Amino acid sequence: MTCRTTVSEPCTDVFTPEKRSAVMARVKAGDTGPELKVRQLTHALGYRYRLHRKDLPGTPDLVFAGRRKVIFVHGCFWHGHDCKRGARPPRQNARYWQAKIARNAARDAATLHALSKLGWESLVIWECALKDRETLTDQIIAFLSPDSRREHHVDNPMARPQNPSIR
Ligand SMILES: [Zn+2]
Repeated sequence: MTCRTTVSEPCTDVFTPEKRSAVMARVKAGDTGPELKVRQLTHALGYRYRLHRKDLPGTPDLVFAGRRKVIFVHGCFWHGHDCKRGARPPRQNARYWQAKIARNAARDAATLHALSKLGWESLVIWECALKDRETLTDQIIAFLSPDSRREHHVDNPMARPQNPSIR
C-alpha cells in the first residue's frame, strides 16, 4: 500500500466501525454547504487533498494527487441529478434553467471522460447523498482505498487492476 500522507498525517485507509463512528460524530451536521461538509468529513477521515486544481479538467473540488483521484460535489438542481431535488422544475424561466442545467450536465460528463483519459478516477458526490452520512462515509473510504477500481474507468487500460488474479 502506498501512502502519500506525511508523518503528522497518518495513513488511515482502514477504519474500524468504532473509529468511523467517532469520526462521523466529530463532523457535525449543519455546517454550511455540501462541498464543505464533504471536505470536513474527508479531512476527519484522515485524507489530505488539494482544492479546486485548475490544471485538471473541470477544476475538481477535492484532488488526491498521490492517489490520482478526484471528488466532485454536485448540487442536485444545478447539475441535473436524477433525484427528487434535481427534478424539481423551476417556477420561472423554466426553459432557460432547463437549458442551462442540461449544459452543466453535458459538461460534467465530458469532464469525467477527460479525467478518465488522463488516468484520474472520479467520484461524484451528490448533494442529496449527504443526508445518509454513514453510506457517504463508506463510499468515500471505498473510493479512496488503494485497491478500489471503478467500472466507469474500464475505457482506461491504465486504471485496470494490475494483477486481477491476486487477492
Ligand atoms: Zn440528488
